[in-house]
Amino acid sequence: MAEGICKLCNEEKKLCEKSHIIPNFLYKDLKKEEDHFFLVQSKNNQYEKKGKLQTGEFDKHILCEKCENEVLSRYEKYGASVLKGGVELKMGNKRVNGVSFLEIGDIDYTSFKLFILSILWKSSISKRKLFEEINLGPYEKIIGEMILNGKPGKSSKFPFLIFTYLNHKDIPADLITQPRRSNFKGGTTYNFLVGGMSYTIFISKHIIPDFVYETTIKEDNTLKIIYSDKRAMNTIFKAMTGLDILRNE
Ligand SMILES: [Zn+2]
Repeated sequence: MAEGICKLCNEEKKLCEKSHIIPNFLYKDLKKEEDHFFLVQSKNNQYEKKGKLQTGEFDKHILCEKCENEVLSRYEKYGASVLKGGVELKMGNKRVNGVSFLEIGDIDYTSFKLFILSILWKSSISKRKLFEEINLGPYEKIIGEMILNGKPGKSSKFPFLIFTYLNHKDIPADLITQPRRSNFKGGTTYNFLVGGMSYTIFISKHIIPDFVYETTIKEDNTLKIIYSDKRAMNTIFKAMTGLDILRNE
């Protein structure tokens, strides 16, 4: 085990051999015995399956054992229990102004928000090529401190949108794409598409539309997950992969 400076607590410690950037459970389908998840990086209108992503992407010697196994794994366990159904949540389907969404209540604001931010933060510190577009710059330190100190800030700070297309069975959900940075009206968002869900995290405050504040996780422990219609999902897919899923329809 190597010694070095932990990227999260900044202390000189023994560092972990393996730190997974995107937790395995996000792309491991529990209904199947084997992993069927593929990395899609194509810029042409074709799936370019890069092979199975069996062990996930991990970095060596970035985090100490305490940060990895106590701080970050606590948020990951909570994220897993929310997304895979291991925790009791209030859930109801709603439709407002033509948008269908799943409204979740009783979700732990601190744990789930820091779970999402921890994936973003780990992607930023990762040296893996897959995460090359994720670079938080000065926000890396700010978000790292929020994670380390268990302080999620206000809901208006780094809000995120979650879309799901799991309601469209004909769109493949068994894939993970390269996380992308996008510049939207001169501000930055980061996008992850994994396991049938799209996560967009807003960094620059001046570009955040009001509906993002209404949809993101809030201090009253509510979160909305938007059911994507095919057209909206196609837009996200195209931006992330170059793939036009509606081309043949
Ligand atoms: Zn540490």
